[in-house]
Amino acid sequence: MVMASLSKFDFKEIENKWKKFWEKEKIYRFNQKDKRKIYSVDTPPPYISGKMHIGHAFSYSQQDFMVRFNRMRGFNVFYPFGTDDNGLPTERFIEKINNVKSKDMGRLDFIKLCLKTLKEVTPDCIQDFKNLAISADYTLYYSTIDDHSRKISQQSFIDLYKMGEAYQKEFPTMWCPDCQTSIAQAELEDKEEKSLFSTIKFSCEGKPLFIATTRPEMLQACVAVFVHPSDKKYKNIVGKKAKVPLFNFEVPIIADTSADPEKGTGALMICSYGDKYDVDAINRYKLTPKLIFDKSGKLNIGEYKGLKVRDARKKILEDLKKENLITEQKEIKHVVNCHDKCGSEIEFIPTKQWFIKILDKKEKFIEQGNKIKWYPEFMHKRYDNWVNGLEWDWSISRNRHFGVPIPVWECKKCGEIILAQEKELPVDPLQVKKICPKCKSKAEPETMVFDTWATSSLTPQIADSLIGASGKIKLPYSLRPQGHDIIRTWAFYTIVKSYLHEKEIPWTDITISGNVSLGGEKMSKSKGNVVSPIDVMNNYGADALRFWAAGSKLGNDLDYQEKDLVAGTKMINKLINASKFVFMNLEEYNGKKPKKLEPLDELFLSKLNSLVKMSTESFENYEYSRVKQEVEQFFWNDFCDNYLEIVKRRVYQGSGDKKLSAQYTLYKTLLTIIKLIAPVMPFITEEIYQQYFRKNEKIKSIHISEWPKSEKIEDSSEFDVLKNNLSFVRQEKSKNKLALNSSVKKFFTPDYKIISKYKEDFISASGAEVISLGKEQKAEF
Ligand SMILES: [Zn+2]
Ligand SMILES: [Zn+2]
Repeated sequence: MVMASLSKFDFKEIENKWKKFWEKEKIYRFNQKDKRKIYSVDTPPPYISGKMHIGHAFSYSQQDFMVRFNRMRGFNVFYPFGTDDNGLPTERFIEKINNVKSKDMGRLDFIKLCLKTLKEVTPDCIQDFKNLAISADYTLYYSTIDDHSRKISQQSFIDLYKMGEAYQKEFPTMWCPDCQTSIAQAELEDKEEKSLFSTIKFSCEGKPLFIATTRPEMLQACVAVFVHPSDKKYKNIVGKKAKVPLFNFEVPIIADTSADPEKGTGALMICSYGDKYDVDAINRYKLTPKLIFDKSGKLNIGEYKGLKVRDARKKILEDLKKENLITEQKEIKHVVNCHDKCGSEIEFIPTKQWFIKILDKKEKFIEQGNKIKWYPEFMHKRYDNWVNGLEWDWSISRNRHFGVPIPVWECKKCGEIILAQEKELPVDPLQVKKICPKCKSKAEPETMVFDTWATSSLTPQIADSLIGASGKIKLPYSLRPQGHDIIRTWAFYTIVKSYLHEKEIPWTDITISGNVSLGGEKMSKSKGNVVSPIDVMNNYGADALRFWAAGSKLGNDLDYQEKDLVAGTKMINKLINASKFVFMNLEEYNGKKPKKLEPLDELFLSKLNSLVKMSTESFENYEYSRVKQEVEQFFWNDFCDNYLEIVKRRVYQGSGDKKLSAQYTLYKTLLTIIKLIAPVMPFITEEIYQQYFRKNEKIKSIHISEWPKSEKIEDSSEFDVLKNNLSFVRQEKSKNKLALNSSVKKFFTPDYKIISKYKEDFISASGAEVISLGKEQKAEF
């Protein structure tokens, strides 16, 4: 095929044209009256904190491929778009651009400021997603801090409290001394650290008792010593008292199987609270905790008062040394639990917090997970591991200022909990005075807010109620697309809430996307290796960016490489040029199918049919990268390099049904190719469709046109035989420095029988004057 020189087409103009068209024609609008089956998406709401990043462009493109495929399959698509604005990132962002501190403002005033600011900046941020052709219905919009979401979040809590699934408890909770808030297990991050393992001399009835620990600063908080019941060394001291060095108070010695005879000296000091084992041990033996830390992680009693954990540790080690109370010391590496938001080591501090019961339902949550289809499947394992490893109920309260308020008041006199009434929601308890119904005293408002996941775990319910009375988009939704880093939070908590409220799974399918790297390295602002999707779109266009995003399997990471964007641009140009060429030859074509198709056209259409079947099945299994790859290969190789070459003379010079057969095949094939790749490259396919096909096809946009149907599959391998023989002839010509259109006197081939079926077309494409059977391929010039 002779290509016109590649003209750099103006993708900005094309993108703007179709974006406006789609909006004006409401192509992606959800229609409530539409009776077709609903395909519903629990769209991830991005944070509004500046510009879109490449990870967003990558994962939202991948979900959009699936949505567009299902729209063309004839579903009534429900694809809402929200933004997640109730967490720390938004708080910081709002503080920064308004130059305020949230803690200096009233909570309600800060929420008002957020809503006002978000209203100003959100359209710009959402525009990035529109520019990328994410085909959501942007009129179905929510923010997780708006009245609507606050109301649903508070109502959920009230319902759970009434069901007995939410409770308040003074409990040693995981606490971040830096952020000064309780945190959930899901926010923990493991960090390997070097630490000193010191053997310290306690005593029991005057005899030394050695105990090794990495946390000597906890000595003051020691409440017991554990030894293993079968540990012979300690048989005689069980039930006696141990004296704590430096502080000289006594604690009971208890036989408990949690003491490991192989670790350290085999004796274990139990402190309130060194770690989660301490919490567990102290609860089991109902020991009275001694609290030595305040909420900022400083010691608050005795001579070490005011010191931070690490400083206290250093000082106490020095003092122990002075008194010869350390017998051995070695450096070890061990894993410590840190807060994922700030990297600080967490402590356990007893505070009053709100929890949702989840530990008693682990099996149910595993069962719910099994009812959901996970793509890729191995991500399901991560969910199971998380649920099986749960050790605490879900802590949903945060001691922060900004967020969705917990809608309760508490009577300090009689302990009565007063819930907000439904008609009050959304409510900020700080703004409403309540009297205890029991003892008529003034009730205190709850000052804490919900953890962000307590609200975003309700995205299916929040999105559903956007279209009026809730319950229209029934659980389960068709799809939840999301990242792998939030399986244990967003996916898990959504499954929890849907189970607790509706005894239902939230979605039938969940897809998990990977990350974007640069040169194999994770992109990060601090490393300065960040690629902006806005720049990429400005340089290559949205279609090329999406084409790149289709290059990795779901769940896999993908490296950003310029050459992949160039490949996308080449694909776009080739589509434009091939379409021009095809329609040059279809000028007087009327869209009719001839009575009889030429054998070659029939063969080629059956090959096209296999491609349709493969593409449909692949999309159904979320294997969009396979569709991209196979359509690209079919288009370049089978269609442009071979089929067009073979039939061009029949179209130029032929007449009657022979010509009509080629024209029909060209039309049908090109239309099918652009439909198959439309979910990946929505702009260029719309451009080609509108320019050439719409007048015949009548449907307003390619994106609501019908997905190609695969008919009965027939063997099309003979097309590959033709391709192979043609390619041999071309190579021979080029070896002999002959023009590609020069003729071949005699061509020998073992495939003679097959080629004779398509003789006329093969002769026309190869220039062979005589074709004969031969043991091997041979061309004589
Ligand atoms: Zn923190
Ligand atoms: Zn009361």
